Order: sequence, then C-alpha cells, then structure tokens
Amino acid sequence: MKCECGGEFEPYTENVEGIPLDCLKCNRCEKILYTSEQMKDFIGMKTMMKKTTTKRKIIVLGHSYAITLPKSLEEIGLKAGQRVSMKMTGKKTLEVKFGEESERITKENVKGDD
Ligand SMILES: [Zn+2]
Repeated sequence: MKCECGGEFEPYTENVEGIPLDCLKCNRCEKILYTSEQMKDFIGMKTMMKKTTTKRKIIVLGHSYAITLPKSLEEIGLKAGQRVSMKMTGKKTLEVKFGEESERITKENVKGDD
C-alpha cells in the first residue's frame, strides 16, 4: 500500500502500552497505519487486560503453591488441563505463557511438571 509521501507501507510491530501491535509503517516518513482488523485486535486485547488484571492470593495445594486464574481467560484460549510455562522476568515478576507462546520455551530451560 502506498503512503501519501510516496513511500510504501510495510508490516511492522509497534509496542502500544506494553502490547505488541501489528500495524503498517511507511518506509519513508515512518507514518503508522492500523487496519480496522488490527484496531479491533488491540481493543479486544485492552478489554481482556482490564478484565484479567486482578489481585490473587497464593494458596497451598498439596506440596505446591497455587494461584487461581480468572475464568474470563477462556476468552483468549486458556483451558483447564492446559500446560503453561512460567519464568521469572524480574526480581518479583513471574511471567506465565500458554498456547504457542508456552511451546516456544525450550525443554532444557524447563523444570518440574506438577
Ligand atoms: Zn510516508
């Protein structure tokens, strides 16, 4: 797609409020353009972020600690029984990945399975 400056729009990923967002960027004037589909994705993601941002208490489950997750996460594909991977991303930050994101973590970096 052509930009009004004569450049060409190319696929680009922009970080908007911490959310990686697919968009188009002009290779000349660097103007950013979103298709209505990309905008819809972003709004959906923001809505989900709002719905799932919550405080939870760590509970004891057998010999493990557990955190309950909001059921609304079903809307983004999280299911009971599904495997997730977890890693520390800061001194007091844990990141939980599921689906294809979870599969990306290589086996040698993963410990435990309960
Ligand atoms: Zn341009």
